[in-house]
Amino acid sequence: MTEKLYYIDPYLQEFEAKIVTISEDRLAVALDRSLFFTPGGGQPTDTGTLTIDGEIYNVTEAYSSEGLTWHKLDRALPTGLKGQSLKGALDWERRYAIMRHHTALHVLNGVAYLAFGALVTGGQIYTDRARIDLTLEDLNPEKVAYIEKESNAIIAKAFDTIPRLVTQEEAATMPELVRTLNAMPPQSEKMRVVEIAGLDRQFCGGTHVANIRELGTLKVLGTRSKGKVNKRIEIGLE
Ligand SMILES: [Zn+2]
Repeated sequence: MTEKLYYIDPYLQEFEAKIVTISEDRLAVALDRSLFFTPGGGQPTDTGTLTIDGEIYNVTEAYSSEGLTWHKLDRALPTGLKGQSLKGALDWERRYAIMRHHTALHVLNGVAYLAFGALVTGGQIYTDRARIDLTLEDLNPEKVAYIEKESNAIIAKAFDTIPRLVTQEEAATMPELVRTLNAMPPQSEKMRVVEIAGLDRQFCGGTHVANIRELGTLKVLGTRSKGKVNKRIEIGLE
């Protein structure tokens, strides 16, 4: 298993690790610990570099397989590097932008859930925008304006974002944690919850900013109907 260092501190940008396994084509390495986020829950991969034996390799993509975090490299490694120590560094500008947009979706989702009972049916986070699909059958311009205004009013309150682990028993007493329609998080002894204190809490495995004041101003960039019930809202941050 790769230790996921971003769960210790989402603001860490550099780390040291050892190579556990190298792919057959030597274009990917699995590490014992990593800061690289593997795609999930609409949050895309991190990119960055690994410095191995004095050589800097670009990590173009990270992915997860059987508990290991693999790092796809821009060129093949030489042979004989299994067990080798290395230094990793994230493309921090990219990761931080993704973190801001992920937390922004939670704010918007929290507002839409409290006001309209909206559940999530999909979402995707980018570095410069994010979109979320919600059950908002009668979404109209007034509701969109309300969601944007209320989201910014919440951001102005500068609430902390608090990730924590809950047991299945605790989770059973908090039905609001299940925010994604027809999808439960992977069942394990402890499940990860991200709480925006004062607004919202939900199952989430992603990385978030520590305080929502880091979001700045949320702007609804557009909406789109994805069916009778599903409506897509795209947002950006200023
Ligand atoms: Zn999330």
